[in-house]
Parts: sequence; C-alpha cells; structure tokens
Amino acid sequence: SVAVVLFTSDLRVHDQPVLRAALRGAERVVPLFVRDDGVRAAGFDAPNRLAFLADCLGALDAGLRQRGGRLILRTGDVVDEVCRVVRESGARRVHVAAGVSRYATTREERLRTALREAGCALDVHDAVMTAVPPGAITPAGGDAFAVFTPYFRRWSETRLREVCAAPRTVRVPDLASDPLPERPDAEHVSPGLPEGGEAAARKRLTAWLADGIESYEDRHDDLPGDATSRLSPYLHFGCLSPVEAVHRARGKGGAGAEAFVRQLAWRDFHHQVLAARPEVSWSDYRPRGDAWRSDREEIAAWREGRTGYPVVDAAMRQLAHEGWMHNRGRLLVASFLTKTLYVDWRVGARHFLDLLVDGDLANNQLNWQWAAGTGTDTRPGRVLNPLTQATRFDPGGDYVRRWLPELAELPGNKIHRPWLLPPEDRARLTYPDPIVDLAEGRDRFARARG
Ligand code: FAD
Repeated sequence: SVAVVLFTSDLRVHDQPVLRAALRGAERVVPLFVRDDGVRAAGFDAPNRLAFLADCLGALDAGLRQRGGRLILRTGDVVDEVCRVVRESGARRVHVAAGVSRYATTREERLRTALREAGCALDVHDAVMTAVPPGAITPAGGDAFAVFTPYFRRWSETRLREVCAAPRTVRVPDLASDPLPERPDAEHVSPGLPEGGEAAARKRLTAWLADGIESYEDRHDDLPGDATSRLSPYLHFGCLSPVEAVHRARGKGGAGAEAFVRQLAWRDFHHQVLAARPEVSWSDYRPRGDAWRSDREEIAAWREGRTGYPVVDAAMRQLAHEGWMHNRGRLLVASFLTKTLYVDWRVGARHFLDLLVDGDLANNQLNWQWAAGTGTDTRPGRVLNPLTQATRFDPGGDYVRRWLPELAELPGNKIHRPWLLPPEDRARLTYPDPIVDLAEGRDRFARARG
C-alpha cells in the first residue's frame, strides 16, 4: 500500500510523527512538497524565506535519500497536486501536520473534501509544529489562553509526547518530480542569511546545548553579545522539532535551559491564540478604535534605519542584512514604530514578514500586537524608551557600532546620542537628526489612549 506525506512547515526526518505514521501504515510513501500557488498569492514568498526554503528542501531530499527515498516536488494548487499524486501513486491515505493559520485549516478542509471524493483518507497529526498542540490546554470557560503566565503554568505540567526516531528506510514509488528549487538571485537575499535545512538545524541545536544555553538566562537581552540560540528560522520551517528541542533542553537542566524552554512556550502560546482566533493575524486582538498616524517619510526612515536613534537604526539594519533581528531589537523597534511614531502595527508586521527568515504568522503578528498594545500584553500602555533600552542592553555601544559604521568612531555610550556631540563633530557625521522627539511621542501616545 502507498501513503502520501504532505510536508508543509515540518521539513525534517527526525522526530517527524507524520512520516512515522505513514511508514507504519504503508509499505511505500510519497514524501511530497507542493510549491503552493496559494502561499505565493498570500505574499509569503519573500526572497529570504524562499532562499532558506530552498536549503530546507535540499536537506530534506538528502535526508530521505540517505534512507533510500527522495522528495517529490510539485508546483500548483496544493489540493489539486495532492489529488494528482494520489491518483498517480494509488495512495489510500494522506498524512499532514495540523496547522494553525486560517490558510492551513482551510487547506485541511479542502483536502478532506477532495480526498473523500477520491476514496482516500486524510490523517492530520498534532504536536508536529508546536510542543503542546493548540487547544490541548484551555482556560476554564474559554478556547485559548489570553495571558501567558497561567498558560505557561499549565504548559509546564503537560506531558509531551516522546521523541520519535528517524526512519531507517523510506521506500518511495517511482513518480515524476520537479527539480529542487534554487535560491533566488543573491541581490534579492539578505547577505548574512543563515544556511537552512535539517542538518544545519541539528548542528546548531547541539552546539547551543553544549555552549550557549547555560548563560541564556543572564545574556538573552545582551544586544551585542548575540547570546540567543538563533533557532527561530529552523523552528519556523520545522527543520527542528519543538518537542525534541524542549526534551533536549530539559535534559540539559539549569536556569538557562529553563529560560529557553519558557521562550519555546511563548511560541506555543502565540500559536494557540492564532488557532482560536485566526482573524487576529491582521485585525486587532483587542480593538482600540483609534486612528493611527501614517507619515510616509517617518515610515521610510524607520524601514531604512535612519530614524536618528542609533539603537533603532542598528536593529533595522541587522534585519536588512541578516533577515533576522535580536528579540530585544524587535521589541524596541516595534515600540518605536507603534507607540513613539504611532504608526499602525500592520505596517511594521508587513515589513518584518518581507524580510524575516523566521517570519511567522503566529509569532510575528502576535508579537507585533503585543508590542503595539492591541494584543495580549497585560501592560499595553508601556512605551520602551530607545535611549533607556540602549543604555541597558547595549551599554558600551558595540551593537550600534557593528551595524552603523558611520558612527563607529564614537566612543563608549556616546554613540547612542550623536546629537549631543559638539557641533563641529556632529557636522562631520553623515547621520540624520532624530525624526521625532521622544517626549512628544510619549505624550501623543498617552493622549490617544485617553
Ligand atoms: P531564543 O531567544 O533563542 O528563543 C528560542 C526560541 O523561542 C525562538 O527560536 C523562538 O522560536 C521562541 N521564541 C523566543 N521568543 C519568542 C517570542 N517572544 N514569541 C514567540 N516565540 C518566541 N519569532 C519568530 O519566530 N517569528 C517571527 O516572525 C517573530 N516576529 C517577532 C516580531 C516582534 C515585533 C517581536 C517583538 C518578536 C518576534 N518574534 C518572532 C519573537 C522573537 O523575537 C524571536 O523568536 C527570537 O528573536 C528568535 O531568536 P532566537 O531563535 O535566537 O530566540
């Protein structure tokens, strides 16, 4: 018998319950990835993620080939392509991981209907994309937690499934496949983009557990120290299983591991919010009903990293260069855009999705809403002052120095306030004056909130 495994955001062979279930029930499987027209139409084909995806598909194909199989790649509408492969292979069952976005759940429903007509069953598997499946833990009287702390308490008490071993052999029927995709042209891709794929993910996790995680609790906010795991793109594409990441971090133990596991729970938290309220991907979780400002010049300055606030600009330049930004940077540039400039969070979220290699509907949109005060933050009125943030998290100015070469000569933390330099020194710099007065921005935000 034959079964189809439809890979989506779970591009791995280790701890892969979807592949395992298919192999248990069938002699041969079709490991299928569809380059889906619908995903492209939704604007999710940003070059950075396409480049990373190309690596991921190459690595998945290599992982399958080591086991005697290979990846079958098709292009088109995902449901049409799955049905076509079912017909070609005579498969009686299709396996897929459960997704949380409206797109993923609609895809599931469409698949179910189309496959039923073709006499084929659909199995949807949980705990593939998240450690704890959305909906597995719920608050009294509700379908999803709105506050992280009680969620985390329950999440921590939840027994995770065991890690499943990678299969030894994968037998694949003889089917046509599109060639593996190439990375987009280098000129469209951030030059510092990491290498994608399962092998790179596993290497990074192992290195992180051996050297990095112990100091995570103390150093995760240290902007120049860059002391976080950088596992987010691998988790986003599913080159790494979150269940395995939690088990291995817990096995390591210690305060650093605990703090790291807590962040993985944040990831699950946002997924369960989006699963219960898919509309909050683009609409306010807590509607505020006020009018955002929209100054094109200011928005362009924010996007391009020339707001005149060095720590904000450094973070935006890191995003452009690496397709990734430190979490502390994300927090402070998001607060700056939505609270200090009072620009709609959707503008920022769209820009992030255009560049972030880990750009993820659940994590990106809900973190943006959290930062903007329209989401699940329990202190929506808090405004992060970029100068205070810079003093705390980049006290020597090295983060700014790394990303703003035009300020690199400025000593120590003077780099955070170039406007205080003597006029003749200031005049020599090719760096803009601040585009907004922080106190003015704070007052405007306070007035708007009433
Ligand atoms: P680590 O600090 O090593 O954390 C380990 C893992 O925990 C991360 O890989 C990630 O999967 C998860 N995690 C950590 N912090 C969060 C968080 N606040 N929310 C959810 N999961 C978290 N993360 C994304 O994966 N995709 C996004 O599109 C995204 N957009 C964001 C937008 C804004 C405005 C903000 C404030 C945060 C966003 N985050 C997003 C969350 C966080 O910034 C990144 O997950 C983190 O910086 C990734 O780096 P890391 O892997 O080194 O994280």
